[in-house]
Amino acid sequence: MTLKSSKYNIFIKGDNEIYGINLLSRSSIEFSLDAYNVFMSLDKYDSENLSLDDPELNLFIQNLKDSMFIIEDDFDEIAYIRYRSNQERFDKRQLGLVITPTMGCNFSCHYCFENKDGSYLDNESQNRILKLVAHNIIGKESLNVQWFGGEPLLALPIIENLSHKLMILAEKARVEYSATVITNGALMTEQASNLLHKMKVKTVQITLDGDRTLHNRTRFENHGDKFFDVILNNIRQASKLFSIKLRVHVSPFNIPRVVSLIDTLEKEGMKECIDELYFSPLFNYRQGNKLPQYIADGKKFMNAEEFAKVQLRLAQKAHKLGFKLSNILDTSYGICTAVRENTLVIDASGNLLKCYKDVGDNSQAMGTLEKGITPNNNLLKWMDISVPRDAECQECKFLPICLGGCSKQWQENAPKEVICTPLKFNADEMLRLYVENIKK
Ligand code: SF4
Ligand code: SF4
Repeated sequence: MTLKSSKYNIFIKGDNEIYGINLLSRSSIEFSLDAYNVFMSLDKYDSENLSLDDPELNLFIQNLKDSMFIIEDDFDEIAYIRYRSNQERFDKRQLGLVITPTMGCNFSCHYCFENKDGSYLDNESQNRILKLVAHNIIGKESLNVQWFGGEPLLALPIIENLSHKLMILAEKARVEYSATVITNGALMTEQASNLLHKMKVKTVQITLDGDRTLHNRTRFENHGDKFFDVILNNIRQASKLFSIKLRVHVSPFNIPRVVSLIDTLEKEGMKECIDELYFSPLFNYRQGNKLPQYIADGKKFMNAEEFAKVQLRLAQKAHKLGFKLSNILDTSYGICTAVRENTLVIDASGNLLKCYKDVGDNSQAMGTLEKGITPNNNLLKWMDISVPRDAECQECKFLPICLGGCSKQWQENAPKEVICTPLKFNADEMLRLYVENIKK
């Protein structure tokens, strides 16, 4: 059987070398020009009868096969993507919980999707969560909890109580426990950080919406207090204990402010405190809003191609200044929490959901802490998805990374121009940054 080159190889030209990236295996190889020429002629080779008299060549070919740059002629790459995706989506070794200890929030962001009814998980609901975990933890290898909100740090006593008991449950079941927090950062004081550290939180995700002026104007505290500098100070001290992911929202109207934010972060010496900086397009997330949620109007919201241009410009600037960017190849075949079998989102009213964006929305619940999971359509619509999603995804070079994108957007009938990964429009340059990062 002859060998062929994977459809999912991308090559980036360096000065005297060529970098190959295979999206199926998420691996990269630096080729000398000679090695690249050998690679390009590999379809001459028979996979079972490689040039046995040339051990170096055999080793090179084996390397390319292991990292999926070359595959058997009849290897079905789409079937492989589907297999890997199903394997991770239905992985029985992991239990993932996204817990919203409160729907209350100290901020009033204009785009927030949440129905902030101010509720907190009561004692009964907390006990029910523990029962649910005790029942489902048997046979698992890991339990990961993500504290989400509202603003989860408004409910630190609940996080402390639940974490403590969940950690005991995990220890008894010999299951590895880890946690992350998604917070606006305003309450991430030294005291809160120390407590969360004891509660085995490893990663903290904080969002900024632009530079000092814009952030203080659009992402303000309920009483109008300005929090940009408080958040930066909190990141500084929290970075001693946690890995900090900084998410920056981007929309057509805040681009210059995001550029200026990167400068401010540099001037404020934040580079060493941020382990991952990434940019995310903003949409109309408001639940119950009459406007469609994922629409790109070019004024307030961007489509993937427009965002790709801006993302590249911002990433190049941040990279040049020495910030660590997120690894664009570090994406899970399991897609996201919503479509994984062993992941649950629990909101403060005790609803059991699949997608983050549905917290506080009773109509999307697939059950409650009180009654358990009902296998209704609110569950099935997340589990019953096919990869690839359509004929365009089937042909798309970025399918192994994008996997068809966000299921919520498909359910909301978002146009493909919004759903597609920006990588489809900026892969060469973004991957060049990736290569420069790994070279460093
Ligand atoms: S479906 Fe979309 S919005 Fe919901 S958790 Fe997955 S990626 Fe996030
Ligand atoms: S959603 Fe778009 S980018 Fe993603 S796999 Fe489908 S066609 Fe490709």
